[in-house]
Amino acid sequence: MLFDPFNRRLNYLRISLTDRCNLRCLYCMPEGGVPKLAHEDILSYEELLRLARLSVALGIEKIRLTGGEPLTRRGAIPFMAELARIPGIKDISLTTNGILLAEKAQALWEAGMRRINISLDSLNPAVYAGITRHDLFHQVWMGIQAVEALGFQPIKINVVALKGLNENEILAFGRLSRDKPYHIRFIEFMPVGSAAGCQSDRFLPADEILARLQTLGPLESINGQGLDGPARRWAYPGARGEVGLISPISHHFCPSCNRLRLTSDGKLRTCIFSDNETDLRQPLRQGASDDQLEMIIREATASKPKEHPLHSPVAPQRCQRQMSAIGG
Ligand code: SAM
Ligand code: SF4
Repeated sequence: MLFDPFNRRLNYLRISLTDRCNLRCLYCMPEGGVPKLAHEDILSYEELLRLARLSVALGIEKIRLTGGEPLTRRGAIPFMAELARIPGIKDISLTTNGILLAEKAQALWEAGMRRINISLDSLNPAVYAGITRHDLFHQVWMGIQAVEALGFQPIKINVVALKGLNENEILAFGRLSRDKPYHIRFIEFMPVGSAAGCQSDRFLPADEILARLQTLGPLESINGQGLDGPARRWAYPGARGEVGLISPISHHFCPSCNRLRLTSDGKLRTCIFSDNETDLRQPLRQGASDDQLEMIIREATASKPKEHPLHSPVAPQRCQRQMSAIGG
């Protein structure tokens, strides 16, 4: 098993499949995009599978595929099917913007995917278009309907809460969690990378979101289980879904952080806010043995910081990489 110096067990790996994306969310990417990595800079599926197998042997139980937009990478779904066959993996999931979901939902299901997070920051097509810079709300909505019809569970909807943009939709999302079996996850805006078109004055603290949700009715707390993430979760009585808050800035969850991140160019990151990265691509390509790679991974985890230093979105930005390159 992998433990860091603070006795946190690391059992969750987020793999970024690509730095490319078919949207340009204000808080994540500049309008013109970011310089693209060359094809040969990206880890191949073979390399990713080797690292995934090694990680599972080291105690990783949960893998999430992210990006950029993971569904834009050719061959992503057959790769997921291979991943699902690794003995010892307890949980594989995907975070997607949903643009390609309607056409790929069936193939994802057949590849063994059952859990999915879909980013949808607004239920209003015009506001959605403003935040993502693409007028594609209906496409995402069709994707959500498709995964629901197939039986994906849970269907989590990620909403980055943004003052002055989608804050007046908090109750609409709360109602959605009553009517549909969706787990709505409000995420605090994080000042990562250049954060593109978003400034810290867009930050909406989780407590404020919770206070607004409570105006819709009483909320019952839901206790998380083993591999659940850092969300604090509630449901309205009789609701089909639930609401949750992910508050990396206002309520640190560093003491229970169990995550490692692998960027698409093969860098292992031990904290979303730290640019301290360990390169795995070069040793992989120079013929490192499994034992040598294991040693490199163990050494990297030894430098996982105890906590990140951000308590406010106005703090100086902590990392050079864009969120689209880190994977969220
Ligand atoms: N493209 C996919 C998507 O949007 O779901 C996966 C990658 S995206 C980087 C993963 C998650 O990070 C998304 O839910 C997105 O909303 C979130 N995210 C991106 N930039 C963020 C920021 N600055 N603050 C908070 N969340 C952010
Ligand atoms: Fe693309 Fe996801 Fe970033 Fe939006 S949040 S620009 S969909 S990677």
